Amino acid sequence: MSISKNDTNEGPSENYEGLTWRQVNHQVVLNHRRTDVLTVTPWMAPIVWEGTFDPLVIDETFRSHNLTIATTVFAVGKYTHFLRDFLESAEKHFMVGLDVHYYVFTDLPGDVPGNITLGLGRLLSIVKVPKFDRWQEISLRRMELIQTAIEDHIYREAHYIFCLDVDMRFHGRVGSEALGRLVAAIHPWFYMYPRSQYPYERRTVSTASVPQDQGDFYYQANIFGGALEDVHRLTKTCREHLEVDKSVGVEAVWQEESHLNWYLVKNKPTKLLSPEYVWDDAKRGKAEEIKLVRFSSVIKNKAEVRENP
Ligand code: UDP
Ligand code: MN
Repeated sequence: MSISKNDTNEGPSENYEGLTWRQVNHQVVLNHRRTDVLTVTPWMAPIVWEGTFDPLVIDETFRSHNLTIATTVFAVGKYTHFLRDFLESAEKHFMVGLDVHYYVFTDLPGDVPGNITLGLGRLLSIVKVPKFDRWQEISLRRMELIQTAIEDHIYREAHYIFCLDVDMRFHGRVGSEALGRLVAAIHPWFYMYPRSQYPYERRTVSTASVPQDQGDFYYQANIFGGALEDVHRLTKTCREHLEVDKSVGVEAVWQEESHLNWYLVKNKPTKLLSPEYVWDDAKRGKAEEIKLVRFSSVIKNKAEVRENP
């Protein structure tokens, strides 16, 4: 018996007409396979790379659920300068076709560009926050502010949440393939190193401490997300740990990123994003495995934009 593509549930993007199910399966594997990179973790979470998913199929799967994706982004002090490029590129590439609610956390609401055209079903709200003195404090306070924003209103307003750095730009699709209960992205500077070289917090005096024989991947805090409940638990735990550390006068080596990494050692993400989803413009040279840069950190003059060295 031969089957048509509609019987296979494999969606509209390939033509499997006239093939047997065995041939179809074989073809699906060939069409969505990468052999040069790790595409599944030892705990069976997918790692999303270009070539491992079918955008048409995955979009069709998610479209009918009418999902709203909350998206938090902090722009405190001079970091408001990054908002225009961030938002304009997000409108072109981020969760296109889904409802997106941006929450811009800022101390300078007047500096949020007002003339950016948002697509249908997309909203932007401003959340006023105080300005902290040190960039480290601004960066790590995000956990607490995201936690309270989820409790106050976001849990009623969205199904998923993504928490993003603002000094970033989208260059390619970041869509429904990135959705999952708990999602984190593999750091572009460390994915080729053994874990002994990951910059985890190692001092046992910090609650973010990860022993040498633990840890799977080193994740970059520039993008993480998932279901509201899961991200709430993550931000609440990290916030509590940040406070414990503060009470004993300790600041983890990479602030909230260290705490995020500790959390993800103990609570494995259900989906991992490859470094395509968190590239760095400062990273030069050829990386054969990166077929498409989707989202990347822009090069910034730290002395100019930050409040302190
Ligand atoms: N941030 C901010 N104002 C600051 C410092 C940081 O709004 O003065 C926010 C902003 O969203 C930024 C994030 O905190 O993207 C993380 O800080 P940064 O990007 O400087 O850290 P890096 O990515 O260089 O480690
Ligand atoms: Mn950044």
